[in-house]
Amino acid sequence: MQAVNEGNIKIHVEDLKKSFHKLQVLRGISTDIYEGEVVVIIGPSGSGKSTFLRCLNHLEQIDSGKVVVDDVDIFDRKTNINTTREKIGMVFQHFNLFNNMNVLRNLMLAPVDLKKATKEQARAKALEMLERVGLADKAENFPSQLSGGQKQRVAIARALCMEPDVMLFDEPTSALDPEMVGEVLQIMKALAADGMTMVIVTHEIGFAREVADRVLFIDEGCIVEEGTPEEIFNHPKTPRAIDFLNKVL
Ligand code: ADP
Ligand code: MG
Repeated sequence: MQAVNEGNIKIHVEDLKKSFHKLQVLRGISTDIYEGEVVVIIGPSGSGKSTFLRCLNHLEQIDSGKVVVDDVDIFDRKTNINTTREKIGMVFQHFNLFNNMNVLRNLMLAPVDLKKATKEQARAKALEMLERVGLADKAENFPSQLSGGQKQRVAIARALCMEPDVMLFDEPTSALDPEMVGEVLQIMKALAADGMTMVIVTHEIGFAREVADRVLFIDEGCIVEEGTPEEIFNHPKTPRAIDFLNKVL
């Protein structure tokens, strides 16, 4: 466990509640995510993990509570959400690449559209990020020509092109064939080692043990238990966490 809790709070979450129609999905989540911290979220299917991640960059509206990123309340009506969103990269289970564009275009799109970079700058950055995920030779390929693992590495590179200072990952390896999981986790490990602030929903417990500073166990829209990987995986305290871990370990 690194001494990350000494640092600055990057994302402050306070009593976050969120429903879809009558279904209350988040029932009052509070936590602080520190700069450089790697937080892994585990929990049963349907417990609200994806919804929680999506609230962190305002992909969802909330019922009540607060999400504060770098001291900016992102649900305040006066906040320009695009400024905050640019700082937060997101990687999804199903890659969400644009299949009608080659890899390079996928990577250049957001920086150019959002006027963060000229085409030349965006191209240079894209090539640098492809290098970083080991896919410099795939710049001209289309997503359909890539394996699942390669697609996910492209998706990570695409997020990095916006120079985010937080990365959210929603089950980034769940859609991959087993032999491709490692290459994606490897990239994520390298990002963590570089000091990126990361919030990761994953069922990869081995990875979580190795990389997480803190693990949150979410069930039925609440943080039921949190602690270091050692605490959560080796000494879970609540019956719900014990039951869940018995199923996945
Ligand atoms: P998890 O990621 O932990 O599996 P989710 O956050 O995806 O859980 O979903 C939590 C609950 O909210 C589930 O019951 C799901 O069906 C419901 N839900 C998620 N997104 C929507 C939506 N857009 N509209 C209605 N219900 C939703
Ligand atoms: Mg989910």
